[in-house]
Amino acid sequence: MGVGLAVELGQRGISCALVERQLKPQRIPKGQNLTQRTLEHFYFWNCVRELRAARIMPADVPTSGVNVYRDLMSDFWSAPSQRELVQKYYFQEYDRLPQYCAEEVLRARMAALPTVKTWFGWSAEKVEQDKHSTRVTVAERNGTGRNLLEADFIVGCDGGHSIVRDQTGITRSGADFDQKMVLMVFRSTGLQEGLKRLPLKSTYNIMHPDLKGYWLFFGRVDMVDSFFFHAPVPNESTDENYDFLGLLHRAAGFKFDVAFEHVGFWDMRVAVADDYHAGRVFIAGDAAHSHPPYGGFGLNNGLEDAANLGWKLAAHLDGWGGKALLRSYTEERRPVFVEIGRDFIAARIEEDRDFLDRYSPEKDYAEFERAWKERMARVSGRAQVYEPNYEGSPVVMGPLGGVCSAHGTHTFTARAGHHLPPNVLSSGRNVFEELGSGYTLLAFGADDGADDSTGHCAIRSFKEAAHSLKVPLKVVRDSYDSGREVYQSKLILVRPDQYVVWNSDAAPADAHAVLSKVAGLA
Ligand SMILES: Cc1cc2nc3c(=O)[nH]c(=O)nc-3n(C[C@H](O)[C@H](O)[C@H](O)COP(=O)(O)OP(=O)(O)OC[C@H]3O[C@@H](n4cnc5c(N)ncnc54)[C@H](O)[C@@H]3O)c2cc1C
Repeated sequence: MGVGLAVELGQRGISCALVERQLKPQRIPKGQNLTQRTLEHFYFWNCVRELRAARIMPADVPTSGVNVYRDLMSDFWSAPSQRELVQKYYFQEYDRLPQYCAEEVLRARMAALPTVKTWFGWSAEKVEQDKHSTRVTVAERNGTGRNLLEADFIVGCDGGHSIVRDQTGITRSGADFDQKMVLMVFRSTGLQEGLKRLPLKSTYNIMHPDLKGYWLFFGRVDMVDSFFFHAPVPNESTDENYDFLGLLHRAAGFKFDVAFEHVGFWDMRVAVADDYHAGRVFIAGDAAHSHPPYGGFGLNNGLEDAANLGWKLAAHLDGWGGKALLRSYTEERRPVFVEIGRDFIAARIEEDRDFLDRYSPEKDYAEFERAWKERMARVSGRAQVYEPNYEGSPVVMGPLGGVCSAHGTHTFTARAGHHLPPNVLSSGRNVFEELGSGYTLLAFGADDGADDSTGHCAIRSFKEAAHSLKVPLKVVRDSYDSGREVYQSKLILVRPDQYVVWNSDAAPADAHAVLSKVAGLA
């Protein structure tokens, strides 16, 4: 997460330092499933090609998964379409690769930015702030070096056990499931062979009636023999006292060779920080929201945090982003994650639990078959209602009564508070390829100097307002036809993270007021 934020800030010309205690990314293949939105971030971080080139799995292996009942030998399995259903609403396609590969790509990108100074192999030990600045005491991990770094702001991207969060006094709330989980990384040609009875996919999620809705989860790391697996285990389990091989064989429903590479544990918890910032200190990623890796929300949301916060910090440091813009980071991102934890992660566990308690092929085969189909259709439908949006943000001209939410709909209509859907311009280029690094006014069918029916000239008034507020603004003009009418707005104001902040067919009565509000100056 920290590397994503450093790239976002560094590209914007903000001088920053990244402190990371590990010299190299840890080779644990978590955080693999990257959404279309995450790939858009990599596009804007100028390393999307490098990211795709770092893919380990062949490009023709779908990133999605198979749901299986009881074990991998079951007759009941389903490979529902999920993220592919919303592909057309994003500029980039999703991808799948281990988090350490994505981090290596970001580290390389960061190394090319003279604005970013890195402290790899150093630990942050103490975090302090006053009204005017912040300080971090850093210590060399394998040495005796110590240093004091001073900055305008600190962002803690230091994971679930964040010292930045704890030392700043930011509290967390949420559900502790009191359930220990194991993560194993191993090699096996036998499992590779055994999986051939199921469709070729990246992950295999087993819903077992004994597991109260928790998953037994196999994921491919490559197409040769490398896998990861996570599952609930008894809370007293340790490296020494638990039969990990037996667990793998029971989950698969057949025996296969296993060469373990890593075994680790974590506690199942959904916890969201009560605030994402205190004074000059912010938190992002797992430091702000911890949760089980169900549904691929962790890394993707952390990178969205980085994209959301990065341009706001840069705007503030460049002198045009107001304090309300900084506050909006919590106001936009926190409610989204509260709903993800509750409605997409915890609810999925509870619904699976209810389903498994209620139906069983042994009790009534036909009824189970019908209920399984229904359940899988519901799982598939989730991808379509997951549409994080900031309709209620104080820095968006959203609808009356709008709220910030993880729930929404996908459409090509431009809506204030929502992700801008892609579209093709007359030049043949995508509108995403023309967006500026500040705000962009998309003006379809409008002339520079011409007044509209309300007697205003949108382009001229936005340009004048941007000039007086020193807000960076790019204008992209095109005709209002050839498919661009699906936006259902001739004028669309887009902010630096590709969210629409205002849209209309006519110039606003007061462009200065609109820009002041969306830049957090009002
Ligand atoms: C098995 C598994 C599968 C997953 N699959 C997915 C998936 O498919 N999609 C998805 O989106 N998410 C997934 N996740 C979740 C995802 O991995 C996490 O959400 C993500 O790693 C969070 O990134 P982060 O940078 O916030 O925290 P971390 O990855 O925990 O990184 C924090 C970093 O801070 C460093 N650090 C901590 N304290 C200090 C300190 N005091 N000083 C210096 N450095 C420090 C650490 O060394 C570490 O590098 C999965 C997780 C697991 C366990």
